[in-house]
Amino acid sequence: MDGKKQQLTVWYWLGLIGVLLAMQFYLLGSRAATIPYSEFKTLLAAGKVQQASVGADTIVAEVDVTGTQNLLPAADYQQLLARPASTSPTLRRIVTDRVEDPQLTTQLQAAHVTYSGVAQNPWLRTLLGWIVPIGLLVLVWVWMMRRGAGSGSGLMMGVGQSKAKLYVESQTKVRFADVAGIDEAKQELEEVVQFLRSPERFRGLGGKIPKGVLIVGAPGTGKTLLAKAVAGEAGVPFLSISGSEFVEMFVGVGAARVRDLFAQAQQRAPCIIFIDELDALGKARGISGLNGNDEREQTLNQLLVQMDGFDSQNGVIILAATNRPEILDPALLRPGRFDRHVAIDRPDIKGREAILKVHAKNVVLSPEVDLAVVAAKTPGFAGADLANIVNEAALHAARENKKAVEPRDFDEAIDRVVAGLEKRNRVMNPKEKETVAYHEAGHALVAESRAHADRVSKISIIPRGIGALGYTQQLPTEDRYLLKRSELLDRLDVLLGGRVAEELVYGDVSTGAQDDLQRATDMARHMVTQYGMSERLGQVAFDSTRPSPFLTVPQANQSVNYSEATARVIDEEVGRLIREAHDRVTQTLTQQRGSLEALARLLLEKEVVERSALEALLASHRGASGVA
Ligand code: ADP
Ligand code: ZN
Repeated sequence: MDGKKQQLTVWYWLGLIGVLLAMQFYLLGSRAATIPYSEFKTLLAAGKVQQASVGADTIVAEVDVTGTQNLLPAADYQQLLARPASTSPTLRRIVTDRVEDPQLTTQLQAAHVTYSGVAQNPWLRTLLGWIVPIGLLVLVWVWMMRRGAGSGSGLMMGVGQSKAKLYVESQTKVRFADVAGIDEAKQELEEVVQFLRSPERFRGLGGKIPKGVLIVGAPGTGKTLLAKAVAGEAGVPFLSISGSEFVEMFVGVGAARVRDLFAQAQQRAPCIIFIDELDALGKARGISGLNGNDEREQTLNQLLVQMDGFDSQNGVIILAATNRPEILDPALLRPGRFDRHVAIDRPDIKGREAILKVHAKNVVLSPEVDLAVVAAKTPGFAGADLANIVNEAALHAARENKKAVEPRDFDEAIDRVVAGLEKRNRVMNPKEKETVAYHEAGHALVAESRAHADRVSKISIIPRGIGALGYTQQLPTEDRYLLKRSELLDRLDVLLGGRVAEELVYGDVSTGAQDDLQRATDMARHMVTQYGMSERLGQVAFDSTRPSPFLTVPQANQSVNYSEATARVIDEEVGRLIREAHDRVTQTLTQQRGSLEALARLLLEKEVVERSALEALLASHRGASGVA
């Protein structure tokens, strides 16, 4: 529970106690003046009492205050006068504690007072005064616990029931048409849809139905969306729960939840169970972090038992999603469990365009907007990022009161999504800004001078989000799955461009290039150890750190399959690649020092330089220096 919530709880309690006190106060007749019984008797004897309700413990009466000044002590008289008038200006209501007094009724009658017996039902009062507020309190408390259950504070409530965390949609609105760019995955799940639509027909044909399908893909690639679409297409309920929610503090809770989940699914069959983040609960047993995790193992075992125990013929199909299949317990992947795997890759350019189209359906686009161009600018983006871009673009257009979303809005949206929200109010000191300008200009110039590097589409020194002080956006001409050695070397050069520019201009370097250097080093290491691109080591692939998708229990310590000597050679080769790149880049930028200065100045002035401006600048400098 965070601080804010705690504060809210405190306010909640204070408010409730206040309400409770107010109710008590009201019901105890605060509007009436309390006077001693003896004074009441005096008033009665003087004929000032007009009406009385005699209760079990108290008497409430209407008293005419005219001429009572001498009958009462001064303080009580003042108190009585100060009370708001009841039915007429001279009348005041009083309360007195009832004393055992056999003569009371006789005296009341003698004074011609209209009186009634039990004016207040003590039961009613207790009910209103205590039971109702307490009942309310309990209700609100329960409600809060329910809500809190999701955030882990509802330990007492709903233990062992997955209801609090299980989301059931009897009808999802998602259809296959809403899922774009991942047609292969859709096709693989088509069979599941067919089965859920008419299980009998499938059974008759003796078709083999998968029990569990594991959807594997990076975050935001649409795994949940696809699972929902399967339910939507088949028209069956969609029960979803996240793997991380199974794992509770108390041993046994997770296992009970699994049982409950499957029981509910059986009731609703045909239906789909969707387990998001399967890895959270399905981590291979024995590789858990701290001294084993009994709870998770129990939960996992229960899941395995349940999966074995039920028959998919009943029409319950389990879909699960993960982005880390390599850490799953192999037992989960055995036949009869999650034995089908559907992989979702990040979309390629066509897929991105299709996804953008889906999300732009409800957005008014200006005719100049070409979603293919937006798709080209967003390599590596997952579906969720693209949805985000369309949303941001629409928001941006709305903020500027436009009638339609324009290409500029999309550019802005891409910038935002790429590097977090723009932080225009973050002030960089002028010196820092200049350093960033030279750094980015260095990246851009090297990219433009290399035959195999992607063209620069935009350079910016507006600080965005955390970490990125500026960036150079390169627009690949196409999606790439294979890269040649020459292309990798050119990329290495571009990465080093920023730092070398700083060296040349200041004779010193800043910390701003840390990420570049990390990436350059990783790339060089990959070239040497995995792509066999080092002459000295030859065509050998060493440490394949990329785990094969569904390998058996991964070792905690990846064993190194080469000798100390080889390790040294690898380090030397990586060092050599970087050094050589550094030398090449230094040469390039020294030659183009004029362009570097000009571009940095332009950046400082404009903060953002688009491709057209960059081309113009390069052209004029080529002309001036005579370098082709
Ligand atoms: P995951 O479960 O893989 O993390 P989600 O399914 O939750 O990703 O995707 C988040 C959102 O991104 C979806 O609700 C949808 O709006 C959008 N999205 C992701 N992939 C696609 C896609 N292939 N087609 C259309 N929209 C997508
Ligand atoms: Zn950089």
